[in-house]
Amino acid sequence: MQRPTQDEGHRDDAGSPVFSASAPWDGSRPDTLVVCCADGRWSAAIQEFLAAHLGTTCHADIISVPGGIEPLTLMDVVPKDFSFLRRRLEALVQGHGTRRLVAIAHEDCSWYRVHRVGPVKVDLRTRQLHDLRRAAARIHAMFPQIAVETYYARLAGGPPPRVVFEVV
Ligand SMILES: [Zn+2]
Repeated sequence: MQRPTQDEGHRDDAGSPVFSASAPWDGSRPDTLVVCCADGRWSAAIQEFLAAHLGTTCHADIISVPGGIEPLTLMDVVPKDFSFLRRRLEALVQGHGTRRLVAIAHEDCSWYRVHRVGPVKVDLRTRQLHDLRRAAARIHAMFPQIAVETYYARLAGGPPPRVVFEVV
């Protein structure tokens, strides 16, 4: 008897769910795409912001990478990072008919702290706001049919502090 390969072994295990999600499946295409940082500390607040303020419920496409929209500002400096994000944006826009793009940057972003491109004297927040505006202009040039909104999330009040969102 032939021993199953590892792949076949995995296939045998398939079909037995370990969890059933309570949320009913919604197969409609989201018309909103969110581009934000992968930093999980901000995720709950961002989800709440999307649902309660922007009205996207949980039904939005999300591209979540460290530094968020930053690769779109790197066309001349790190073109492969720029292309990585551009190709994925194009795929979603073509596949889903995206009409609205929401870009969110956040305070204390470790990607921005570590990956400094440009003058060191410029503080992080200023750089992030500048990048949001540059990325928005780039998106507008690539996809003129899409409305672009940009926001900056930061901590306020407390303790414990709350996450607040500013229009950029
Ligand atoms: Zn971040």
